[in-house]
Amino acid sequence: MARQATDIETYISGIRAGDRLLLSRGLTLVESKHPGDRRMAEHLLKALLPYSGKSIRIGITGVPGAGKSTFIEAFGTYLTGKGLKVAVLAVDPSSQLSGGSILGDKTRMENLSRNPGAFIRPTPSGTEKGGIASGTAESIILCEAAGYEVILVETVGVGQAETMVKDITDLFLLLMLTGAGDDLQGIKRGIMEIADAVIVHKADGDNLENARITAKQLEQVLHMFPAAESGWTVPVLTCSSLNGSGLQEVAGLVERYKELASANGFLDKNREKQELLLFRKKLEALIRDSMETKEDFIRRVTEAEQKIRNREISAGEAAVSVFRAIQRQDQSR
Ligand code: GDP
Repeated sequence: MARQATDIETYISGIRAGDRLLLSRGLTLVESKHPGDRRMAEHLLKALLPYSGKSIRIGITGVPGAGKSTFIEAFGTYLTGKGLKVAVLAVDPSSQLSGGSILGDKTRMENLSRNPGAFIRPTPSGTEKGGIASGTAESIILCEAAGYEVILVETVGVGQAETMVKDITDLFLLLMLTGAGDDLQGIKRGIMEIADAVIVHKADGDNLENARITAKQLEQVLHMFPAAESGWTVPVLTCSSLNGSGLQEVAGLVERYKELASANGFLDKNREKQELLLFRKKLEALIRDSMETKEDFIRRVTEAEQKIRNREISAGEAAVSVFRAIQRQDQSR
């Protein structure tokens, strides 16, 4: 026991002092499913929570090929050049299904990974069921306690990543490509509705003029959206991660957003809302998991499913009757 106490103290002081190795190992604990590691992780998170919260948390999304990793590399390098400490995390729901990232083999952000002002955490593979967002939210706490001032959270893979990242970040950047303005129906529109800034990326070479036209079209579309609760007007910028143009403007918009949302209280209010949401989701997942492993529960569900197939009972009635039976059983214990 004494050894574990020393270990945890080493983690706490090491992470607070900005020790990258201990931060990496701390993140491994947080990502782990092993009960012993989880206990350590909970201890660590409790100790580090008071030192967290000071960064700006930026979510970055866009279709595969939009240039997210190139942008993070360029923007991260720009920010470290301004003396800021930058951490990069990734959320990849596909890793939950496949046990590994679809982009796992891709060499990503090579320069930034060698930059002493930056810390990159590769995509965790196989995250706890229902706990992807809460896992990354915990990783953010550790990075903030280690002194990282900007946290870039990248969405990797497909599926639920966008809303998950939106739910754990302060500012959500959407990278788009030229011509995207022509095709704003369907899924892209949904993502545009939750973006805090839209960046028309790869605005360089022959693409520059088209990028400007796309930006104008997107501005017009955004005008039609209702005003954001934060009081913020969603800007559309153009940017090239190849030649660096527009990166300064992106940094400027982050700064403006931070000032506005801090001054009007939105930043704190939004984070509080996010914490409460994470709490609910995590609790729901735990309750569901604990139910699903009960033998009686599995038996009753199987029986109910058969009755539904036989058209003996409606779906709603079946759910209520299984739930009541489990409740009665718990009460009689
Ligand atoms: P991701 O899938 O969204 O992470 O996209 P990547 O960062 O892997 O970039 C996809 C491709 O776009 C790569 O071939 C990049 O070299 C290219 N790319 C990224 N950023 C830019 C840019 O600013 N300008 C141009 N012309 N190409 C870019």
